[in-house]
Amino acid sequence: MAPTTNKRTAIIVGAGAAGLSTAVRLAHQGWDVTIFEKEKTPGGRLSAVEENGYTIDIGPTILLMDDVFRQLFADVGRKLEDYLELVRLNPLYQLCFSDGTVLPLPSTTKELLDEIRRINPDDVDGYLQFLAQSNDRYRAVRENFFERPMNTLGELLSMDSLFGFYRLKTLTNMYADISRYIADERLRLALTFGAIYMGVSPYSTPSAYTIISYVEHAVCGVWYPKGGMNKVSKALVKLLGEFGGQLQLGREVSEIIIENGHARGVRLANGETHHADVVISNVDFPTSMEKLVSPPYRGKHTTKNLESMTNSCGALMFYLGINHRYDHLDVHNIYFTSNFKKTMDQIFEAKVFPDEPAIYLYSPTRIDPSMAPEGKEVLYILVPAPNMSSSVDWIKDVPRFRDIVMSKLERSGLTNLRQHIEFERVYTPQTFEQRFNLYQGAAFGLAPTLFQSAYFRPRITSDKVDNLYFTGASVHPGGGVPVVMVCAKLVTDLILKDHGYTPVWADPKAAV
Ligand SMILES: Cc1cc2nc3c(=O)[nH]c(=O)nc-3n(C[C@H](O)[C@H](O)[C@H](O)COP(=O)(O)OP(=O)(O)OC[C@H]3O[C@@H](n4cnc5c(N)ncnc54)[C@H](O)[C@@H]3O)c2cc1C
Repeated sequence: MAPTTNKRTAIIVGAGAAGLSTAVRLAHQGWDVTIFEKEKTPGGRLSAVEENGYTIDIGPTILLMDDVFRQLFADVGRKLEDYLELVRLNPLYQLCFSDGTVLPLPSTTKELLDEIRRINPDDVDGYLQFLAQSNDRYRAVRENFFERPMNTLGELLSMDSLFGFYRLKTLTNMYADISRYIADERLRLALTFGAIYMGVSPYSTPSAYTIISYVEHAVCGVWYPKGGMNKVSKALVKLLGEFGGQLQLGREVSEIIIENGHARGVRLANGETHHADVVISNVDFPTSMEKLVSPPYRGKHTTKNLESMTNSCGALMFYLGINHRYDHLDVHNIYFTSNFKKTMDQIFEAKVFPDEPAIYLYSPTRIDPSMAPEGKEVLYILVPAPNMSSSVDWIKDVPRFRDIVMSKLERSGLTNLRQHIEFERVYTPQTFEQRFNLYQGAAFGLAPTLFQSAYFRPRITSDKVDNLYFTGASVHPGGGVPVVMVCAKLVTDLILKDHGYTPVWADPKAAV
């Protein structure tokens, strides 16, 4: 079908956080935007299982960098508070160590210093030193890399980027870096486990990412949107409707139509074709290349190149509705292992399910009863696991893994958990691969290794095809909901610039 208006037209493939945010921005700028989403519900990983009165977020649960969310709404002339109710959490997490120590990680630096003093007074000075250098790293990431498109070699080699790289001082890994300041093993884990948010190991991820814990404590805290994180995608869908954008659900794209090096539109799995001035793929980048772009137009991203890239880990997920309340839980609970390095090595090096898995347990009903029928509780259990590049059999082996996970939780205070389950859904890396087209079922997309970051990460434009753009976790700047929202701004600004427009954002602070 040909476009019917004189407006510039855009087709976006996929209604994940990045696809929706890009659509909202382009529609606000007056473009005629249509999203084709293969699933019957929008949001991708940012959606929820909604059954039997339970609402259980599928992927994201931790809202970091609230300023990025607020900025998106402000840029399009809206107030976030009219769409979402954000609650700031304190403590941020409850950390449970295998020696029985329970550390509630407070949200303010003052309270955190008190906790550090309680665990190991000798680490207070080290933590202050860590804080002192973190702000410069954080500013370098945001100013020099994160908020810039990093699309050309010139951008990489600019004085700004080179100076930014110097400011990052990222010559080692997160764990080694924090160990320069902190002696206590529990505190080292408390300040580096955030690597798992990106699906990578703190023992191999560039030290620059220690800013995650700095951002949580010293910059913007951790927030909870009432109704769960899936409310963010619902708010984006509402915004899109307000700007006249179209969202077509249950519409799988099978090919990006490219003629003589120009993206012309998409072909759906049912054979229909749709044309537009630009095509933006929100499908996980390696899958976009492998399944939607025909080989002559993939450039350096051949099948061999895609296979050689480093992916994040997978996640084994249990979404539970239970008829019992565990009052000792917090909203976000982390259960470490007796040898965290071994657990990480089993996932990332040996690629086997760990003998002793680490567990992240999210219990939003602690503060939000709307997520479950009255008196019931929601438990979301995330177990970092190898992705589909391993030999794990994600059908046959799951009952055994489930026993290991449930036994660990029952030993950790969730007494008789299995007897209280009245609703259960299980997602494995295979589910993520099949449902959302995540390459190798890697829950968090391409890993943020040094050589898969900034200019070296897949870019938001195609080298080979005009009018083809990418948005999402596996392209620059990277994964995580706020980060893909920044990606949406970078890609929108670039599309407008490429087509001779100057972005006009409602909030003048957003001007590039
Ligand atoms: C278990 C888990 C926990 C996480 N926790 C957090 C967290 O706490 N905080 C945080 O900020 N981030 C978290 N993340 C990361 C975050 O979910 C992602 O970075 C972000 O949601 C990615 O959005 P996206 O738009 O790039 O991709 P996706 O959400 O994958 O969206 C892509 C969309 O494209 C659709 N699609 C695929 N192929 C086609 C096709 N051929 N045709 C049409 N549509 C198609 C998919 O169905 C999907 O809707 C978590 C992720 C997971 C999996």
